[in-house]
Amino acid sequence: MEFIVDGMLGKLARWLRMLGYDTKYSSRMSDDEILKAASEEGRVILTRDYEFFKRANIHGVKAVFVEGETNAEKLADLSKQININLEININESRCPKCNAKIASIRKENVKDKVPESTYRFYNEFWECSSCGQIYWKGSHWKKINNTLRRAKQIYFTH
Ligand SMILES: [Zn+2]
Repeated sequence: MEFIVDGMLGKLARWLRMLGYDTKYSSRMSDDEILKAASEEGRVILTRDYEFFKRANIHGVKAVFVEGETNAEKLADLSKQININLEININESRCPKCNAKIASIRKENVKDKVPESTYRFYNEFWECSSCGQIYWKGSHWKKINNTLRRAKQIYFTH
C-alpha cells in the first residue's frame, strides 16, 4: 500500500514513512494534483476533508477519511480502516523527512555527522539514501514507541 496525504496530515505522513509505507506529501499540492497523482501512481489518498474524500470516491480513487485527534488516534483509525501495521521495523523504514529508504550505516562513518555525545552513547545508526539524514534510537525513540503502544490500545479497546 502506498499513500498520498493531504496538506492537513503532514505529521501522519512522517509516521507512515517510519512505519515503512511509501507516502507522498506536499503541503503545496492542490486537491486536483493529489487526485491525479493518486490515480496515476496507484496511491491511497488519506484526508481529513470529507468533501474531498467524497470527490475521490466519485472519481474512483481509493481514499480514506481519517478520524481521530492525536497521532495515536489517527494511527489506530487507519489500522482499523485499512489494516496498517503499527510496528516499526527500522530496516523497512523510510526517512520521515523525504520518504526515501533508510539503511544501516557503520558507526565509524557517522563520526563527523552526529553530536559527540550521541556518537559515544549509541552504536546503531541509519542514514537516508536521499537526504543523508542520520537516525539513531535516541530519546525520541521511546516517545515513538509510546505513541504506537497507545495506538494499539485504542485499536483493541474501541
Ligand atoms: Zn531523507
